[in-house]
Amino acid sequence: MKNTAKVVIIGGGIQGISLAYHLARRGLTDVCLVEMKELGSGSSGRSAAIIGHAFPSENCLPLVELSFAALMRFQDELDADPGYEPIGCLLLAGAQGAPDPSTGSGYDLRRRHALLQSKGVVSHLVDRETISRLTPGLNLEKIEVGLYGPRDGSVDPHSIMMAYAHHARRLGVEFAEGVKATGLQIEGDRVVGVHTTAGFMATHCVVNAAGFRAREVGTWAGMDLPITNMKRHIFVTGPIAAYSQPIPFTYEVEVAWYMRREGPGLLIGMGAVESDEEDPQVDWSFLDVVADHSVYRAPALAEAEIKSGWAGLRPITPDDDPILGEASHLRGFFNDCGWGGHGIMNAPAAGIVLAELIVDGTTDRVNLTDADISCFRAERFEGWLSKGDC
Ligand SMILES: Cc1cc2nc3c(=O)[nH]c(=O)nc-3n(C[C@H](O)[C@H](O)[C@H](O)COP(=O)(O)OP(=O)(O)OC[C@H]3O[C@@H](n4cnc5c(N)ncnc54)[C@H](O)[C@@H]3O)c2cc1C
Repeated sequence: MKNTAKVVIIGGGIQGISLAYHLARRGLTDVCLVEMKELGSGSSGRSAAIIGHAFPSENCLPLVELSFAALMRFQDELDADPGYEPIGCLLLAGAQGAPDPSTGSGYDLRRRHALLQSKGVVSHLVDRETISRLTPGLNLEKIEVGLYGPRDGSVDPHSIMMAYAHHARRLGVEFAEGVKATGLQIEGDRVVGVHTTAGFMATHCVVNAAGFRAREVGTWAGMDLPITNMKRHIFVTGPIAAYSQPIPFTYEVEVAWYMRREGPGLLIGMGAVESDEEDPQVDWSFLDVVADHSVYRAPALAEAEIKSGWAGLRPITPDDDPILGEASHLRGFFNDCGWGGHGIMNAPAAGIVLAELIVDGTTDRVNLTDADISCFRAERFEGWLSKGDC
């Protein structure tokens, strides 16, 4: 591993890898990404791989749009297939809705629809009859309304990461796998290096893309990043006759239960339990909880045979928005973390805007609230600066 770099990225998930590629694409190739395990071994390799407009906050919507645009030109730009399949997303809610972390009030699909309409995003509020047509065989007890996004769909995060990594490498970026960052070297108010298990690397720019370990990396910079890791399970079934035809990604917001087709079977996701496991394992006793709700909501799942399962962590902030941008107290220290359940869909965009911020010191790519990405800075949270020394 080299011992000096213009930019050091900590974390080889989809966020860090996207940033590495976009920095190199803008001509900044003296970049080293350190990943303590293998690229994509964190949350990025364990997601449901959905890109959709109904999930992100109003602040994040421009990023999702930018990601969509990047995915549409992915094949031409990177000569690789990002696996985008516009299967559509169908959100289901009852009369009350579920807690919406970005507003603190109910997850009101009607309000969500109005927001999407005002931003020019195609979405449809649908009644129970249309819900049954889109995703047949559901028991719609306690479901009042649906929100359907026909452009939303699934991607292949592995292909996206490998294509970004391949082209970043080709342009000169070093990927140091099996290397763990262990601390920062700080002089005055600026970063001057990173300590790693493979030695010290001098640098004036460090990016915290450490996903479920971002809170720990933040402490090295004297920050108390309010990120909580929530564990979610996914189970994959064998073929189910009732779901042999395409269905949209179907998500019940009140209980955060979802299903979509995966190969000949279904992928079913559920669960939000706080956890800091480094390699989250399946808790097979949780399968009973998932099975109970699945059979209640989609009775044909009673015949499902579970073929495989995995678990992963979603690093969530109090308002469900990411932490993105340079720390105001420490020059050269950037955060790109706290992506919760939206880190795949936002990765192309985050790489573009953060690369622009690092290379040019400004970004005009997306018209976010302040015409920049300052709405995502850690400083929006009270107590973001820890009391101790960096
Ligand atoms: C079950 C599940 C379903 C999901 N579904 C979706 C979805 O449908 N759509 C969507 O957009 N998002 C989804 N997500 C969220 C998404 O997976 C994450 O937001 C995203 O992967 C975060 O990417 P990342 O690069 O920030 O983190 P990660 O992929 O976790 O990468 C961080 C990397 O940093 C490395 N690291 C940590 N500390 C250090 C250190 N000190 N030194 C070196 N390396 C270090 C880790 O090994 C890891 O590889 C889901 C998540 C889960 C768990």
